[in-house]
Amino acid sequence: MAKKVLIVEDNELNLRLFRDLLEAHGADVRTVRDAREALPAIHSFLPQLVIMDIQLPHISGVELIRLMKADPSLDSIPVMAVTAYAGKGDEGRARQAGADAYVSKPISVSRFVAAVESLAGSLGDGFKRAG
Ligand code: MN
Repeated sequence: MAKKVLIVEDNELNLRLFRDLLEAHGADVRTVRDAREALPAIHSFLPQLVIMDIQLPHISGVELIRLMKADPSLDSIPVMAVTAYAGKGDEGRARQAGADAYVSKPISVSRFVAAVESLAGSLGDGFKRAG
C-alpha cells in the first residue's frame, strides 16, 4: 500500500520538488499551500507522514506542529519539519513543538528521501517490487 503523505509548503518550487520525489517513491501525496487549510486537510486525509514547512504565512509550521501534537487524533502522525538554512533557531523550535525530524533547505535529495523513509517506512511498492 502506498503511504499517504501530506505536504504543507507555501513555496511552489519546493512543493513540486517534494511531491515529485515522494511520488517517484510510490507515495500517495496531497499538498496544502495555505497554512490555514493544513489542520482540516490532515484531519480528512489522515496521512502517515506530514512534511511541514516552518516558514508559512498566517500560521507558522511550529504552531501547526504544536496543534497537531495537542490533538489526540493527530498526535501519532510523524512530522518532518523543513527549515530554512539560515533559520538556525527553527530547528530547535520545531523539535520543541514535537517534530520527529527535520531537514533544512536547500534540501539534499538523498537525505530528504532517507529521512522520509526512516519516519514512514517504504513509501510504496510500485517499482520496487521484486518478482
Ligand atoms: Mn515557506
